[in-house]
Amino acid sequence: MIVVMKPSATEEELQRVLQRVEKLGLEAHLSAGESHTIIGLVGETGRITPNAFEVMPGVERAVRVAEPFKLANREFHPQNTVIQVGDVSIGEEKLVIMAGPCSVESRSQLLETAHAVKEAGAHILRGGAFKPRSSPYSFQGLGEEGLKYLAEAREIYGMPIITEVMAPEEVDLVASYADILQIGARNMQNYRLLQAVGKVEKPVFLKRGLSATIQELLMSAEYVMANGNPNVMLVERGIRTYETYTRNTFDINAIPALKQLSHLPVIGDPSHGTGKWRLVAPVAKAAIAAGADGLMIEVHPRPAEAFSDGAQSLKPKRFQALMDDLHLLAAALGRSL
Ligand code: PEP
Ligand code: MN
Repeated sequence: MIVVMKPSATEEELQRVLQRVEKLGLEAHLSAGESHTIIGLVGETGRITPNAFEVMPGVERAVRVAEPFKLANREFHPQNTVIQVGDVSIGEEKLVIMAGPCSVESRSQLLETAHAVKEAGAHILRGGAFKPRSSPYSFQGLGEEGLKYLAEAREIYGMPIITEVMAPEEVDLVASYADILQIGARNMQNYRLLQAVGKVEKPVFLKRGLSATIQELLMSAEYVMANGNPNVMLVERGIRTYETYTRNTFDINAIPALKQLSHLPVIGDPSHGTGKWRLVAPVAKAAIAAGADGLMIEVHPRPAEAFSDGAQSLKPKRFQALMDDLHLLAAALGRSL
């Protein structure tokens, strides 16, 4: 349920509503808008009627939130959430581009790629150190050694770093290096992991599961938020359909749908969403045109030699060409890069 205060409501009237919420054993989440203050109620609200609040002085109306996601719901929090990572703001008019290799393969490969993506104007460096591979015989990542190379690249190039965390017991280790914690598609419904990243201070980059609905993605964001971490990004990275020409089917619908349903930043990942480098730039542009707040793009200096996801990785010069196009597109959409 949400309780919307009148623009004329006094601080005392607001406090009285908050006291009633507490007495009912519910949690209140305050969102102060330009004219209205909205109080989001979390807990077992089924047993109370909106009328219990509507009779109180200063209350304009109280309405039930039909969706099962509450903290992630735009009704709870009408303004966009902006996530601050160093100097980078995610969820504002300026688009945020995260780029780098699928896997951190070596110190030199990472630094070479970091240099290239920085030159092209990327804001955040990505690279996997713990890799969720479909085969146990495939490269599994460099682990902590990879995290060290990412941290070194951050120092050299002044870019925040994002990397995946796969297990609850590795959250503290990964969070001690990374600026943003990535939850991979395969772990979107690993509830113990979602709870664990909910308890740390670092923002979470939550990728949509291979066969997850939009509501399931939002419920996973709710897990992180309900555990205390409000800084979650929602990521469309393609879902599995009957189509086999592409690795996944990038669900463009999800971008405006998520923006409407939630206040959280929405990011598009056309690399995993297509699996083919020739499709990455067009789908990246489509994601931005549909309202995404940013992109994650895999870049590798020599895709043919990549340890993972070479087929969908852009060479630096193609990434640069995409960034040039994105400048024009952003301007046409009233955004910037
Ligand atoms: C990745 O970002 O390299 C990755 C493994 O992504 P996903 O979890 O979306 O497959
Ligand atoms: Mn990858």
